[in-house]
Amino acid sequence: MSLKIRNLAIIAHVDHGKTTLVDQLLQAGGTYRDNQATQERAMDSMDLEKEKGITIKAKNTAILWEGYTINIVDTPGHADFGAEVERVMKMVDGVLLVVDAAGGPQAQTRFVLRKALQEGLKPIVVVNKLDRPLSNPQKVHDQVLELFLDLDATEEQFEAPFSYGSARDGYFMDSPDDERVDCTPLLKKIVEFIPEPAADPDAPFHMLVSNIEWDSFVGRVAVGKVLGGSVKKGDTIWLLRKDGTKQQSKVMKTFSYSGLATEDSEGGEAGGIVGIAAGIEDIDIGETLAATKEQDPLPFVEIDPPTVSME
Ligand code: GDP
Repeated sequence: MSLKIRNLAIIAHVDHGKTTLVDQLLQAGGTYRDNQATQERAMDSMDLEKEKGITIKAKNTAILWEGYTINIVDTPGHADFGAEVERVMKMVDGVLLVVDAAGGPQAQTRFVLRKALQEGLKPIVVVNKLDRPLSNPQKVHDQVLELFLDLDATEEQFEAPFSYGSARDGYFMDSPDDERVDCTPLLKKIVEFIPEPAADPDAPFHMLVSNIEWDSFVGRVAVGKVLGGSVKKGDTIWLLRKDGTKQQSKVMKTFSYSGLATEDSEGGEAGGIVGIAAGIEDIDIGETLAATKEQDPLPFVEIDPPTVSME
């Protein structure tokens, strides 16, 4: 059985158009028309998080297109968030690298891209802002390939597909000279090129908690990729802690994507990224949520803060 889910991280230097692109893809999937909450820019919740004194966390947006759920996880561009970037890279199966068609790749793309390539993820390169008078897609294409070489990309990663277009104007093409229509060619590329997640729908539910987010109504929300089975509101689940202790709980609420554009969802299925509120106050990154207490906790490698500064 094939899973109609794709999980990818989005990488971009600040202002290269990550937020605009995600908004545009949400529109292409019709999510905007159906859901008032996403009228707010989906990923732009940083300011509020700062106000509330919460650590800036990666955010996750689900785009529904042609029966596929495309989960896009935002990645902080700064090396200070190295550990978080690595956790994101372990949740996803590919990356979208967004690069300004006039400016080319910049410092902030380099750090996160290196992590993604090291994790063996397949990139799709999105050359954005093609509408800008100074855009030079061919030059930027070559610069990105140089960067790949520099970061020791594998042969397969080096053959990354490119998509050219304008997030502002809502079109992407396989080649800069193609007709400018809509975002379909890029969505097609994502579905065709990013591998489906490795997860077993027939196994009992289990998930590694990769991130913790905060919801003002239900408190701590455990975010992760469902590695087996499925989960929904009302299910009884077990928290398997790193110290070997176990705690039973009930799923109060699930989220299909999080951040401020968080939406209630019907549940999480194998391979998908889900947020789970289970009323456990101290639930933490690296712990396992599972259907039964007999299941084994999932392995989690603690990542040290990076010692390198931004390049
Ligand atoms: P982010 O920092 O990567 O999330 O970038 P934003 O999506 O916030 O975009 C930064 C700025 O670039 C905003 O003023 C956008 O309107 C603009 N922008 C985004 N995409 C395009 C595009 O395709 N063409 C042009 N001309 N401007 C764009």
